[in-house]
Amino acid sequence: MHPFEFHAASNEGDAIALRTTHADARFLAGGTTLVDLMKHDVERPAHVIDINALDLARVTEEFGGIRIGAMVRNSDLAHHPLVRDRFPVLSQALLAGASPQLRNMASTGGNLLQRTRCYYFRDVASPCNKREPGSGCGALHGYNRIHAILGTSEHCIATHPSDMAVALMALDAVVHVRGARGERAIPLGQFYLLPADHPELETTLASDELIVSVHVPALDFARRSLYLKVRDRASYAFALASAAVALDMTGGTIRDARIALGGVGTVPWRARAAEEVLRGRRLESQTLQRAADAALQGAIPRGHNAFKIDLARRTLMRALARAGELS
Ligand code: SF4
Repeated sequence: MHPFEFHAASNEGDAIALRTTHADARFLAGGTTLVDLMKHDVERPAHVIDINALDLARVTEEFGGIRIGAMVRNSDLAHHPLVRDRFPVLSQALLAGASPQLRNMASTGGNLLQRTRCYYFRDVASPCNKREPGSGCGALHGYNRIHAILGTSEHCIATHPSDMAVALMALDAVVHVRGARGERAIPLGQFYLLPADHPELETTLASDELIVSVHVPALDFARRSLYLKVRDRASYAFALASAAVALDMTGGTIRDARIALGGVGTVPWRARAAEEVLRGRRLESQTLQRAADAALQGAIPRGHNAFKIDLARRTLMRALARAGELS
């Protein structure tokens, strides 16, 4: 591991001041991504700022929605009564991720910022534009079974690994951040960047900004929501395809819908075109197929990952059908 200087921040202002002073620094929350990557020499920060003492570990009700502190652990969030009752899709997505031990450590802010599982990104002997801009992409013509089919570029096809972020994307969550210039709110739909020509840039977060909370706005029909994840193993595996869905139904007709896909996009993938297909229609097989076609429109297979197009279509159709059966 590359040597680094360790700093323990005692409050938000302290953390931001340390980050502003030290350009080559990373915040350390649960450490479930950062420490791994530092051990593999993928991340080599000169300064590590521990933020575990910050008072950011509360879940509170806010205007019918919830505000989640950035340091709330994934396990605590998954089992919180407000989340389980009002946003089951979020609870299920969290419980579908990682292992109990990892969920006990991983934080809400860190989960949003977790890095891709692309093998070439994690192997410093391989070319990778995300790790080393301009070095090339080992996955484009390499083994790319786990890679993305939506939102890719000729410079990067890495899949975003988070389950939690897929649920939050469907729920229109807003990320609240604080930096040297003050606070701002970033809708999750504007938080992630597509790889385009610069896969090394993953979010719109400035280098001195700290995620302080995530707000999930009220959404009555999110009580009828679920997360369906398809993976190689029954647990402790990343999604090959997943779907976060919420349906507003009256009789057999869909009034409104929220859909996001995981395991297939370079960012957690909101499927607005599929939502549009569903609005005002009855929940029947032909409608589900049309919605799935809309969700996967523009998907680009790269060889080993071509199976994901059909897998994602079927995952979404099954998730919608199951959501329709919920009371
Ligand atoms: Fe790197 Fe992205 Fe290519 Fe993976 S897909 S090797 S992360 S540039």
